[in-house]
Amino acid sequence: MASRTRAWTRIDFDRDGKQVGTFNFNHSVHRSAYGVVQVPLAVIKHGRGPTVLLMAGNHGDEYEGQLALTRLIRTLDPGRVQGRLILLPMANAPAAKAGTRTSPLDGGNLNRVFPGDPGGTPTEQIAFFIGDVLMPLADVCCDLHSGGSSLEYLPAVMVQVVGDPEKDRRAMAAGRAFGYSFTVILPWGGPSGKAMDAAAGRGIIWVGGEFGGEGRVTPAYVGLLDDGIAGLLDHLDVVKDPKPRSATPTRLVTAGGPERIVYAAEAGVMEPVAKLGADVKPGDVAAIMHCPEIPDREPVTYRFEAPGVVLARRAMGRVEPGDCLYETFVDYVGPLA
Ligand SMILES: [Zn+2]
Repeated sequence: MASRTRAWTRIDFDRDGKQVGTFNFNHSVHRSAYGVVQVPLAVIKHGRGPTVLLMAGNHGDEYEGQLALTRLIRTLDPGRVQGRLILLPMANAPAAKAGTRTSPLDGGNLNRVFPGDPGGTPTEQIAFFIGDVLMPLADVCCDLHSGGSSLEYLPAVMVQVVGDPEKDRRAMAAGRAFGYSFTVILPWGGPSGKAMDAAAGRGIIWVGGEFGGEGRVTPAYVGLLDDGIAGLLDHLDVVKDPKPRSATPTRLVTAGGPERIVYAAEAGVMEPVAKLGADVKPGDVAAIMHCPEIPDREPVTYRFEAPGVVLARRAMGRVEPGDCLYETFVDYVGPLA
């Protein structure tokens, strides 16, 4: 059945070779009555093999993935491909062009509006096109995040598991192929509006991760990600990597309970204490909250409530109540280890 999407593209998904273009949908505003939103899209296809959908800029201010996919589009010789790559280097293009997490057109957070709406806001229309047109073509969806402007992540691969042993085995193998030190196992937890959700609903393997952050580019992390994507594509036999690869040990972690996140209870300026990658136990100091507005007030010490390894912390100094200061993960024990 044809998709109900109102977006269109001139890219032919069945044609061999490299095509770089956009998908587009109408966006009629004061300064552009017949204007469209253009979302960069590339397809690199050759021979027979799996289809991998690679997306970055799901959140506009996450850059490592945007650079890795841009480089891949520019440099990959289609003759090396056995299968098909569908690449979205700036999935929420209006947000990515503005350098913001959410879209300046509608305030939309692309990774909270799946499955989207073909007649909805620009962000909902993008989600619908990705979920209803691109995902059905794909065997694997690779969704590259970076924490965003407000968070700093120790680069970690993330794998969604759905409770189907065969699919979960394939997802875990895809995650390991990145060769990262940390792999976060994310059990499918019901509708969340995330791209990983849409992938689970369509029976597609979802692998992704957080590959940096702070709303900036960390060159070493981009290099690591280039290598990780090469490892994934080699593992899937879509682009064989001439570089010899050996299995790298990875620490399997997963999300614990809600107490694994340290939230701010008051406004102030955060002095981070715990380092990324640190193993912490309950009572360990996470951060000190200072209050320059009331200079003689004693600072407040924030402590971890749960044991775990620190993979993310707030990157911005100024804090409001409810902001996430630190995020920890626990070692995974289960059948996939
Ligand atoms: Zn993100």
